[in-house]
Amino acid sequence: MKKTKYVFVTGGVTSSLGKGIIAASLAKLLQKRGYSVTIQKLDPYINIDPGTLNPYEHGECFVTDDGAETDLDLGHYERFLNIPTSQANNVTTGRIYQSVINKERKGEFLGKTVQIIPHITDEIKHRIQLLGNTGEYDIVITEIGGTIGDIESLPYVESVRQLLWELGHENAVSIHLTLIPYLAAAGELKTKPTQHSVKMLMQSGVTPDILVCRTEHKLNDGIKRKLALFCNVQQDAIIESLDAETIYDVPNMMLEEKLDEVVLKKMNLPIDEKPDLKVWNTFVTKHKNPKNTIEIGLIGKYVELHDAYKSIAESFIHAGSSNEVKVNIQWIHSNKLTPDNIPSKLKNLDGILVAPGFGDRGIEGKIDAVKYARENKVPFLGICLGMQMAVIEFSRNVLGLKDAFSTEMNPNTPHPVINLMEAQKSVVDKGGTMRLGAWKCQLAEGSKVKSIYKKEIIEERHRHRYEFNNEYLDQIEKAGLIATGKNPDTNLVEIIELKDHPWFVGVQYHPEYKSTVLSPHPLFVDFVKAALEHSLK
Ligand code: GLN
Repeated sequence: MKKTKYVFVTGGVTSSLGKGIIAASLAKLLQKRGYSVTIQKLDPYINIDPGTLNPYEHGECFVTDDGAETDLDLGHYERFLNIPTSQANNVTTGRIYQSVINKERKGEFLGKTVQIIPHITDEIKHRIQLLGNTGEYDIVITEIGGTIGDIESLPYVESVRQLLWELGHENAVSIHLTLIPYLAAAGELKTKPTQHSVKMLMQSGVTPDILVCRTEHKLNDGIKRKLALFCNVQQDAIIESLDAETIYDVPNMMLEEKLDEVVLKKMNLPIDEKPDLKVWNTFVTKHKNPKNTIEIGLIGKYVELHDAYKSIAESFIHAGSSNEVKVNIQWIHSNKLTPDNIPSKLKNLDGILVAPGFGDRGIEGKIDAVKYARENKVPFLGICLGMQMAVIEFSRNVLGLKDAFSTEMNPNTPHPVINLMEAQKSVVDKGGTMRLGAWKCQLAEGSKVKSIYKKEIIEERHRHRYEFNNEYLDQIEKAGLIATGKNPDTNLVEIIELKDHPWFVGVQYHPEYKSTVLSPHPLFVDFVKAALEHSLK
């Protein structure tokens, strides 16, 4: 049983400074120094989870093995650390209030007035320490979403204040991430916004131990001295975080700045030899020095916001590095595709990915893109909704089942080749009720996927309500679209492959959630390889 220490990461001045990447980079360095580390994100919004949020609002919803719908930062944590996260790694204000209110109804606080302090803060502290109490981790890093000064995050900051006090200085450290803007007209870096942010944090009773300063220019000694003086932080705990070429450079940059050493020193933990980042650095070097470039079309309906497909984009970086190619993603809006413009819009692509999604906006464009990939033998990967569209396209255009569709888009289709899962028929609530999390899938002998995964049983993460309708399986397989992966217990079709095509795979699950720097996802690696071969033809 380990005695867990805690690191809290707050952000100031502005949002989008990259708290998640700083937390993940610190965790990577600590992990490579031999500590077992995990990262948790506390989100201030009142939704129970981001599963009900439009991706335009909050980017991709990341799904864990245990079926939690979570913030996309958890994807970064997994990609950096190569260990799975779980429900306990993401907590929202909605979830905190829900638990407290449920307890109140059960009578657990009988006789008492239920208040933010202590009831809400107790629940937050309990959630923060849940991971630590497993005894698995030396260090738990907790990232507080939002920016210091937001009304929503006050109970979180108050809980951090209490925990820093209760756990004691050696057991808990506070890092504040801020922005040092550069004023071109004055030719100067400005520390005032950081001073204000720290002042606000200190008004809440939290003094940062470490400042991580995002900046476009190097911080000179004078600036560091000034920050130290005004912010009550030791000068060696002022860490410069310059803009990076890629997020995967940040662990090395933080190593250079000794962020990990400062954290360990503050917690009185041994600082042995430097962390071994050899494998990580091979990945980065290959990523930065590609031998070829390929063009992949990502056909989706949220393409204006690339964060909506974060894990897919990162999976291409991992797979690109392992193939030593640069994967150039062309973000293509499915709403803008028509049978007339498809040949000109897709002709330069070496691979086509039809993305996950919900609802019927842009759906015909996705189906037409599948048709183009199938007929022109362009490598194709369909993920979740993308796989379903591949089944629909095949049914319509090869089997001649006119108007074949998913009952999600047309409940009255004469040919529901994709229909609502049996278990979903009684579901009324929208939140957290899809088929979620990791499920087993058995791969067929002699299939392309079996040769890619080199395993018979795989486990992949799901997030859907609709499925392949097995009543059409015989017809569809006879015509050449084969179900090569099935759930061994229920026979649900999880993978389809097209015969007589160089690379055409549709998966009902989301492989992108499991790709990491250390283990690029085999399906993405092979898809990129096929696209590379296509480009060299
Ligand atoms: N809308 C489809 C379903 O619910 C696909 C979901 C997805 O792409 N994640 O089955």
